[in-house]
Formats: sequence, structure tokens, C-alpha cells
Amino acid sequence: MKIIRLSWAVLEANYDWTIVRLDAPNGLFGIGEAYMGPGLTAILDELRPLVVGTDIYQMEEIIRRLRGCTVHASPGVCFHAIAGIEAALWDLLGKSLGQPIWKLLGGRFRERVRIYADCHAGDALDSMSSVLQSRTPSWTGTQVVAAEVSLKHHGWNPAEAEYPEPAQYRARAREMADRGFTALKFDADIPTPLPTDNYNRSLRRDEIDFVLERLRAVRAEIGPGVDFAVDCHWNYTTADAIKLGRALGELDLLWFEDPIPPESIRQLKAVQAGVPMPVATGENHYLLTDFLRLIEEGDVRVLAPDVQKIGALDLKALSRVADAMATSLTIHNISSPIGTMFSAHVCGSIPNFLALEWHGAAVPFFDDLAGPIIDRGFITLTDAPGLGVTLNEDVARRYAKPGEDFF
Ligand SMILES: [Mg+2]
Repeated sequence: MKIIRLSWAVLEANYDWTIVRLDAPNGLFGIGEAYMGPGLTAILDELRPLVVGTDIYQMEEIIRRLRGCTVHASPGVCFHAIAGIEAALWDLLGKSLGQPIWKLLGGRFRERVRIYADCHAGDALDSMSSVLQSRTPSWTGTQVVAAEVSLKHHGWNPAEAEYPEPAQYRARAREMADRGFTALKFDADIPTPLPTDNYNRSLRRDEIDFVLERLRAVRAEIGPGVDFAVDCHWNYTTADAIKLGRALGELDLLWFEDPIPPESIRQLKAVQAGVPMPVATGENHYLLTDFLRLIEEGDVRVLAPDVQKIGALDLKALSRVADAMATSLTIHNISSPIGTMFSAHVCGSIPNFLALEWHGAAVPFFDDLAGPIIDRGFITLTDAPGLGVTLNEDVARRYAKPGEDFF
């Protein structure tokens, strides 16, 4: 069965959500999602002749060839585009065989996939462009004040930022625990009123205390029955990451995410040796060889790959090796319901799974795009063919990014 068309739609949400569609004869089609990145749809356009006309039952060969043809420019956004195509192929394959994706991936270890709610700094994250600049999506009435985004405090627009209060952290933790989530994540790299150097990756004791006070409010609110992790977005030096990690030791964190720049594998080992909780990293990595180095040389205890970046085939391979090396996987995810659902199929099919991220709490139309998929903190894997959900194109069109194709 041949692919006869490759198309995509870009939705403007808290991030750009790029939904890839592959059409086969007789009205059959599959959809998947590609992780955002500058130039993503131009790459999809260039890959189109390499995809149209191929056999949908030749997935491994198709992905191998697409990676081979982009090897001089890979990984990065080329991998994002290829992961979107791979995901659409899985949906198409499942629909053509009448089987859910989790069965094609080898079956499920769990029927209900545990979701963790990304709570940012207790407040809603701005909408961000593919180069992480605050923007005003076409569907909101509010105007974002344009400003240079702080490098030290990932995702914060200093023109708008109010310093997050402990009460904000506490309230968001309570809201998510009440909604049934058994795992949460909060940011440590938040703006403070304290003077700081925006470039030197250092943390003074008073800055650490400012963060600790807010994260303590979370643990006090949720008690020991809900897990929570902390994200640092690659911001600190090895020495300062260790200082912060030790200070957060009393919180019994699920993991301590991206404390230092992601490529610094031996320094990650030093951080892991210096802090009491598991260090997590992986959302910026693409190659199986790099993940292996993270386990072997970096002593990383929790890997956090993104399915919309590396695809399901490599994630399954990574899971096998990581499991043999006693390492857990938590799955990074900032995607729409389409990418989130695809990730859930993958998460159901791997043994060493901790939790799948959900970053969509601040997106008012998340549940409208494909119907609610998260119930009391879990996604249930059903027997419906392919992804098991359908994108409502009428709803999606309302949030289409101006200037981009819509299928
Ligand atoms: Mg992260």
C-alpha cells in the first residue's frame, strides 16, 4: 500500500504543534506530530518526494533512508520532521491492520499510562515561538509585551514576569493533585527579585533559598502521596547544580532534571555523585550512542527522551538497552493531544517507564482537539485502531498558525 500524499498543519498553542498527515488510497490516512523547530515545515516539504510513493509496510526502511538522506544536516529539526512522519506511519499502519499502535509495538505492559503534570512555576507558561520568544497567539485577546527572554530563567519574559509566590506553587500543586495526577513537575529556574548575573550560571545561597521556599510549599501541600520532580532547564554550573540539588534533598524528588548543559556528560556524573536524588536528562538528545554515553559515562539514572524528536522505533530500542542497564525512562512531551496519545502508546509498550509529561494544562482548547484523553492523571490504551483518537479538523483550524499550511 503506497503513500499518496504528505501534508501537515501547524497549530499555534503554547508551542507550535505540527501535525503530519500521510494519505494512502481508499481514504485511509494517518496523523502524527513533529516536535517544533525553526524551519520544520520547510524540511517536511523537502522530504516529501522521499516519502510519497513508498510502501507503508516498509517503515524501518523509510526511516533509515530519511535519516540517511539528511545525515549531513542531522539530527536536530531533521529528526523532528522524520519523527512526525514515523508517527503518522504508525497511525496509518494501525488503521490499515485494524489494530492499536500499542499492539504493533509489541503489546502493553500497562493499560493505563501515568501522566505527570508540568506545573511550570505554578502559573501558566506564555506561548513561545520555535526560538523560545514570547508571542501572542492569534486566538488570544491579550498582547504579550515583547522583550528579550531571560537566558537564565528559561521561558520567562522579564517584561511580564511577576515573581512566583509560594502560594502559587501550593495552589497549582493542590489543583493538579485534586485532578488526580500522582506526579507533578515544577521549575527551579525562576526569576527572583535578587540581583543576579544573567550569564554566569551561578546561584547564590539566597537565590537557592528563594527557590526552596516555593518547592517546600509544594511538598507541604501534596504530602508524600504524590511524586514531584524539578526542572532546571540546563541553567547551572556543575558546582551550583550540586549546591541546589543538596538543598532540595529534603523534598524527596522523583528526579532533578537538566541541572547543567545537556552535552556535559562527565559533569552530569559529577552532579549525580553530589546530589541525593536521581538526575534526569535526555530531551535534547537524539542519537542512541549519546543516550548510551549518558547511562555509562554520565551515570544518569532517569533518561527523558522525546518521542516527537526521536520516534518510536529508537525509543523502543533505547528502552531495551536502558532496562538492561537498570535505568528508567520518563518521557518528555510538550505536544498536542495527537503527540501525547502517540507517546502514551509507546509508554505503554516499554517496561522501564516512570511517567509521561503533559504540558497542556494552560492550553484552553487541549481537550477540544481530539476529545479528553487524560482521566484522573492517566491515559487509557484502548483497542481502537491506530492512535485511537481523531483530530477534529474544524476545531484545529481555529488555532491554525497564520502563514502555514493546513493539510
Ligand atoms: Mg525539561
